[in-house]
Amino acid sequence: MGANGGGANGARALDRRGTGGWESVLEAERALSPGAEWQSELYRVAVDQFRRAADVLELEPEIRARLLEPRRSLVVNFPVRLDDGEVQSFTGYRVQHTLTMGPMKGGFRYGPGVSLGECAALAMWMTFKCALVGLPFGGAKGGVRCDPNRLSEGELERITRRYASEIFPIIGPDRDIPAPDIATGEREMAWFMDTYSQQVGHPVPEIVTGKPLVLGGTEGRDIATGLGVVYCVEELLATLDQAVADQRVVVQGFGNVGATVVREMAERGATIVGVSDVTGGVVDPNGLDIGALDEWVKANRFVRDFPYATGVSRLEILEQPCDILVPAAVEQQITEENAARIDARWIVEGANGPTTPEADEILARRGIDVIPDVLANAGGVTVSYFEWVQDQQKLAWQGAEVAARLRMQLDDAFARVSEARERLGTDWRTAAQAVAIERVADASRLRTIYP
Ligand code: NAD
Repeated sequence: MGANGGGANGARALDRRGTGGWESVLEAERALSPGAEWQSELYRVAVDQFRRAADVLELEPEIRARLLEPRRSLVVNFPVRLDDGEVQSFTGYRVQHTLTMGPMKGGFRYGPGVSLGECAALAMWMTFKCALVGLPFGGAKGGVRCDPNRLSEGELERITRRYASEIFPIIGPDRDIPAPDIATGEREMAWFMDTYSQQVGHPVPEIVTGKPLVLGGTEGRDIATGLGVVYCVEELLATLDQAVADQRVVVQGFGNVGATVVREMAERGATIVGVSDVTGGVVDPNGLDIGALDEWVKANRFVRDFPYATGVSRLEILEQPCDILVPAAVEQQITEENAARIDARWIVEGANGPTTPEADEILARRGIDVIPDVLANAGGVTVSYFEWVQDQQKLAWQGAEVAARLRMQLDDAFARVSEARERLGTDWRTAAQAVAIERVADASRLRTIYP
């Protein structure tokens, strides 16, 4: 299993094979910058964040090198027959960042921009997210490059089943356990679980998390990520002696994470002044009627044209005045281009990687605190862990037990990050990464190097 070629640099290395023999190939490969195989804007962001925290910890070069690049990357190409009879080839990925902490864990997503570099960045964040919450997993991520909005249910099922069998050699309930991410949910997890089970000849519910309840899913997984975001907001406000009911909130994204944050914050009395999705946003400074918005989206799929609010563009939503801004859509939304216009007191990252390092600097100068993704959206993987544990033990917890355990685990992680922030004198993101990196580094030192 290997990563795919190293783009232009990789091509240069191969060219030299013909002229200079293997020595010159090795020389050319040494000249590749670290991580060339995974080069992408998101991987650059993940590496930049890692380096900041590693510098604060004065992490030794050997451990840095072991954590900077993923351990295993698999790229697959596979044919799928579309509804019109044509056959289309799709590219899929599975990246496993570290094998040190236990089995790997991470979602898989569908989207036109899914790439090896994107999966590598997301896998690295999964490692730190799991370590921060104290889960016995290393990070992984995967996906298929496709446009799910243009595919029928049958086509999506065939893509999911074929992707599952293509990555079969490196996954397993004790090796790598996938889960939902962007544009994948319970339905895809059911197809995935069935495909894996067909291959091994018996039901294996613990191969994925985020499954429907009747197939071995857990109570509370569907709302876990959004609920975790809200728990972090509550912890943050508690330290400042402020009430959730006094907050004006804007949420970018109205999918699994965003819609849960909107509903849970509204239920706690917060005023939701803006919500958006891929089609654009709707705002009302006096507060949106969330029940009506939910009904509208149920009937019309998107928030666009919701009649009881003012429409704004996909990016304008981020600049609406509020106390708490929750980006819960896709990565790289808050950048050096718009960071100066963000009009919030706090940003709580529901999405993975929504803020670039350049934006982080601008926000810090402006006194806007960012509660980072590895902490704020860790509720999803935490309840995924609960699901895996229940599947392994063949028992089912009540919803209240899941929620109580989630709260305990996240409150504990929040406290550790808070303490590290004071001790290290850093921002929230660097503190969260430092807590996580320390844990993974400790495990790496103890296991030493094989052989
Ligand atoms: P989803 O597919 O359910 O929802 C995504 C939402 O974002 C949709 O409303 C979509 O219309 C909107 N969107 C897409 N592109 C957009 C754009 N360019 N601008 C504005 N809105 C856009 O996905 P999700 O599961 O809610 O995931 C959202 C984010 O949270 C992702 O970054 C994901 O990696 C992260 N996350 C999800 C989970 C989980 O359990 N689902 C866990 C941790 C992190």
